Formats: sequence, C-alpha cells, structure tokens
Amino acid sequence: MGWWLSRTMTALVVVVLVAGIAALFGVLMQEAVPAMALGGLLAMGALVLRDSLRGQGLMNWLRGPLQTAAPRDTGFWGELAYRTEKALRSREQALRQEQEQLSQFLSAIEASPNGVMMLDGNDQIEWCNSVGAEHFGLDPQRDRRQRVTNLVRMPAFVAHLQGNRYDEAVVFPGPLGRTTLSVLVRPYGNGMKLVLSQDITERERTEAMRRDFVANVSHEIRTPLTVLAGFVETMAGLALTEVERQRVLSLMQQQTDRMQALVGDLLTLAKLEGSPRPGADRWLPVATVMRKAHADALALSAGRHRIEIEGGDDAEVAGSEPELYSAVGNLLNNAVRYTPDGGLIQLRWIWRTDGGAALEVKDGGIGIAREHLPRLTERFYRVDGSRSRDTGGTGLGLSIVKHVAQRHGGEIDIQSELGHGSSFRLVLPALRVRPSHMAAAATAMA
Ligand code: ADP
Repeated sequence: MGWWLSRTMTALVVVVLVAGIAALFGVLMQEAVPAMALGGLLAMGALVLRDSLRGQGLMNWLRGPLQTAAPRDTGFWGELAYRTEKALRSREQALRQEQEQLSQFLSAIEASPNGVMMLDGNDQIEWCNSVGAEHFGLDPQRDRRQRVTNLVRMPAFVAHLQGNRYDEAVVFPGPLGRTTLSVLVRPYGNGMKLVLSQDITERERTEAMRRDFVANVSHEIRTPLTVLAGFVETMAGLALTEVERQRVLSLMQQQTDRMQALVGDLLTLAKLEGSPRPGADRWLPVATVMRKAHADALALSAGRHRIEIEGGDDAEVAGSEPELYSAVGNLLNNAVRYTPDGGLIQLRWIWRTDGGAALEVKDGGIGIAREHLPRLTERFYRVDGSRSRDTGGTGLGLSIVKHVAQRHGGEIDIQSELGHGSSFRLVLPALRVRPSHMAAAATAMA
C-alpha cells in the first residue's frame, strides 16, 4: 500500500511539474489549456513506460533459471523483486536441508549390517542398501523401479511377500544357495513395504553344530551306560562265579572310566570356552610342562614305546600351565595310543625363525590319510571310531589342543602320512615365548 501511494505521489508530482512547465509555456505562448493537457499526457506516458521496463526486468529474471540475483530496483518493483528472491532462497535453503537430512538418513541405513529395501505399492524397488542388494543379488542402481518379484525369484520370498501376513520372519536360502537369509517384511505408508534381511548363515551353522554336539555327547554317554545297565542286570539276576564276577566288574570299570574321561574332556572344553584368555605376562618354564607330560606318557606306554624328550630347558612361555600341560598331554596320549609297540615318540621344543616356537609331538605310528587332516580337530571326529574308543579316546583330544593353541595366540599344525607316522605341532607366537636368559635380564632390570 505504502509503495502504491508513493508511486502515485511520484506520478502526481511529475504530472504537476510537467503540467506546470507546459502551463508556463502556454501562458507565455497564450495557449494555457492545450499545453497543460499535452504535458500531463506526456508525463503519464513516461511513467507507464518506465514502470513496464522495470516490470519486464523482473519478469525476465523470473523466467530464467533464477540462479543470479534478482534485478535491484527501488520502489514497488524493487520491493517485489526483493521479496520474491527472499522467498525463493529460503525455499531453496529448506530444500537443501531436507536433502541433506535425507542423504544422512540413507547413509545411516547404508551403514546398517542388515539389508534394507523399500518397495512401493506395486512391489517395485524404491531404494535398497548395498547389504540388501548383496543378500538378494541385486544392483541398487540398475534395479531401481523394477518389480522385486521379477528379480528375486526364491519361491519362499515371493510367497511371503504376496501372502500379506508379515508377523514372522521367513527363512530361505540366498540366491546362490551359499547363504541362509532371514527376511522380515513391514508394511508402511500407502501400501509400501520395508524389507529387512539378515544373513543368518553363521548362526544356523553354530546352531547345527550345537545340535550335533548334543547328539554326539548323548550318543557317547548312552553307549557305556547301556553296557553298564546290562552288566548290572546280569549281576543282579545271575549267580556268578567269583571269576565271572571279577570279569564283569572289570568290564564295568572300563565303561565308567570311559564316561569319566568323556565328562572330564567336556568339562575341560567348557572351561576353555568360558574363561578369559591366559594373560601374556605370566611366564612359566616350558620344561616343567614337558617333563610332567613326558612322565605321564611313559606311565601310559608302560615300556611299550621309546619316548624321547628334547629341548625346552632354556625356554619360557607366557600362558596357562594347566592348559599347556593338558594340550601336550593329549598329543602324547594320542601318540602312545596310535603308535604300535616298539615305536619311537619324540617330544620336542623347537625355536622358529620368526621368533616363535613350537611344542612338537612326533611319532612313527599308524599315520593319518590326507583327506582326514582338515577335520581332525573337530569335536568327536575320529578316523577309526572303534580304535579310538578301544584305546580310551573321547574324540575331543585334538579339539582341546586346538583351543589351547588359539587361546595362546597360536595354532595347531598337523603333518601326517598314512603308515608313516605323524607330527603335531602346537605353534606359539613370538609374543608368548622367550629364552630363559631374557627372563633373568628382565628380573635384573626390575
Ligand atoms: P581321540 O580321543 O579319538 O584320539 P582326538 O581328538 O585326540 O580323539 O583325535 C582325533 C582323531 O585323530 C583320532 O580318533 C585319530 O583317528 C586321529 N589321531 C590323533 N592323533 C593321532 C596320531 N598320533 N596318529 C594317528 N592318528 C591320530
């Protein structure tokens, strides 16, 4: 309103001025009235021309890409241009902020370890993060706006998506059959869907391992229990001679020993899995462990084998003595059990060139065929089940050794050839081993 007034005022002033000049001219020329009318018309015309030029300037700017500044002007057109530009720039700013928020939001979803896919009302892909794309074998850019069921053809997925009942996740094999996916669909908005996917291959594998483990343990315990139950029945129901009674009792003893060994190994494994790693600052002389395990092996062999011990007097290990003793004990126990009488067994401490060391148990026993080697450390994996059981094996020895090695930052290295003996090395990293003289130096410095 203010600008309209000032514009009108300006127009009036100009009209009056021009009319005044024209009147003066008219008076001088004795033609006052026609001259005033002419002056007024000219002034009006000039004003209209000026106004439309200024308006045209603003219109040209509005028609353009609006990237440059609006035309600067005074008065009405100036105010209009200023207000239009201000509204435009604040819209642009709000839009930029929204876009930034959206891209931050999408980056957050992109960072999710789970797959996220958004579908429109026609099940066409609106957006998909890279994890989701990998799960379903999609290309997040190329497959945009494609109907998902044309690209992901797993029947369980298609049926679930079209079933309209999304209370529970559906589980099915991934596109290449190497993975297992768990997919949850959540409807939102106007018929849109959020598809959340998770790779549960590892979880399924662990679950299968747990089931196998429970089944194996039950089987291992049930067999001696059945035998024991039979003997108890025999003893209760039959009048046995003293010799027969002694024989049955000794067989019962064998079965209870077997169960005891099994429960002992299970407890050892549970302890290894459930306790923190042995500290890397508790040093112990490795010779103590080696000598104790060597003495046990001699007792077990009862003179049937030659068992040698070599090295280790000058070495220390940072770790747990009971765990290392259990590992070396298991390796020696196996060597005795799988080496025919008269064979040679060696327990050695070997320094390695990388600064680490290995505790090696080498035997000249029956050896192991190459195809079994990768699976030897699995729980209850045996090359020959009856030989293992007959010699008091639980099938858990090498998995205990592997656990101990891993808890000390090391690994188990197995070399064997059928009929030519085996070498089992518990390899320890440089961080966990040192020569004894370094221990003396460390004490002196402290
Ligand atoms: P087990 O109680 O059956 O000996 P382990 O886990 O200690 O269980 O060993 C797994 C399998 O590896 C054994 O059943 C056996 O077939 C094989 N094995 C282990 N040590 C030796 C060895 N020194 N010589 C030959 N075979 C071995």
